[in-house]
Amino acid sequence: MKILVLNSGSSSIKFRVYEARGGSLEELARGIVERIGEEVSYFTYKSPRGEIRYEDVIGSHEEGLRRVLKALTDPEAGVIGDPSEIAGVGHRVVHGGDVVSEPVVIDEGVEEAIERFAVMAPLHNPANLAGIRAAKKVFPGAVHVAVFDTAFHQTLPEEAYLYAIPYEYYEKYRVRRYGFHGISHMYVAEKAAELMGRPLGELRIITCHLGNGASVAAVKGGRSVETSMGMTPLEGLVMGTRSGDIDPSIFYFLMKWEGLSADDVYELLNKRSGLLGLSGVTNDVRVLTERMLSGDRAAERALRVYAHRVKKYIGAYMAVLGGVDAIVFTAGVGEKSALVRRMILEGLEELGIVLDEERNEDPAAHGYLISSDASKVKVYAIPTNEELVIARETLRLARERMGGG
Ligand code: ADP
Repeated sequence: MKILVLNSGSSSIKFRVYEARGGSLEELARGIVERIGEEVSYFTYKSPRGEIRYEDVIGSHEEGLRRVLKALTDPEAGVIGDPSEIAGVGHRVVHGGDVVSEPVVIDEGVEEAIERFAVMAPLHNPANLAGIRAAKKVFPGAVHVAVFDTAFHQTLPEEAYLYAIPYEYYEKYRVRRYGFHGISHMYVAEKAAELMGRPLGELRIITCHLGNGASVAAVKGGRSVETSMGMTPLEGLVMGTRSGDIDPSIFYFLMKWEGLSADDVYELLNKRSGLLGLSGVTNDVRVLTERMLSGDRAAERALRVYAHRVKKYIGAYMAVLGGVDAIVFTAGVGEKSALVRRMILEGLEELGIVLDEERNEDPAAHGYLISSDASKVKVYAIPTNEELVIARETLRLARERMGGG
């Protein structure tokens, strides 16, 4: 049984194909269609049987997916004979609001929910929906499943998800905290439990997904009980280009002082803030690290603010969880930046968190463990694998659907 996983952005489609063999999923191929709808688009595909790369005009998501199908059925590099071999298509969807709390087979109601919450994820949900509608045309025989970034956090208690503004806005507009990156937080929490050889159900884990977007989650017994992103992905940690937490009055004063519109300030906080805004140079942590090490004050300032915010959340979530058994770092920065991990964890020895310098430099060589043997809390740097979670959930629901007729 083969599963296609799609991550559709506004101008790109990332895809992977898996085959279910016994109890496990094996990756057969992967690729990306980039710059859809622009003057020139890029197509990249790779399987153990060969690679396909070209530039062409690819005008829409549907056209992009037809190219994906063409590559998948290519006589040389392909991995399937015809589209009916794809039993399930799993779609990553960013915002499911409080309507969806687990992976679901996509029907009209699900599409309607994705549309309804698009107002809170204007860059992501419409693109996700475009991908779903296109895929239904190109793979009409497959079971289409949506896996939501918000779903894992639907277990947040009321005191964690409500904002202290008039309650009527929660009732009227569903203004509340939802949280994101749920697929990744869930995956690495499960992985950490596996590495510890303990049941997830008895563990308190803090997961730090530090990519271009970044969030922290407190996971108790496998359920998310707190997370740093809010109604939208703007809240919480300092990110590549997003401010994370700020005093909401700043919105008001920037409008007044700079003569900006609400749209302008919203754009400034989402696209021109965070590491980019602080450093004035880039949101790329690799570049900032090089610059900091060669004495650049602005780069150092940006990384310090970044690390301080994560540290603060770790402390807060230890209080929320009543202690912590493991801390996990994942995503681009979390997996790869030994420096940022060190900056976050330094000074936490009194709290039972002790980093091992050697392990921190090369986590993969040490079973992803980066804490010292003296550390009460286990600390890991684990590669996330959101596509695998989506494939797993899609396979489960496709089997259920087929089994049930
Ligand atoms: P996205 O959120 O877009 O999926 P990723 O999880 O791929 O992003 O993370 C992107 C971030 O990871 C970028 O800021 C990049 O600088 C950072 N990154 C990637 N490789 C390294 C590295 N070797 N050292 C430090 N940071 C890295």
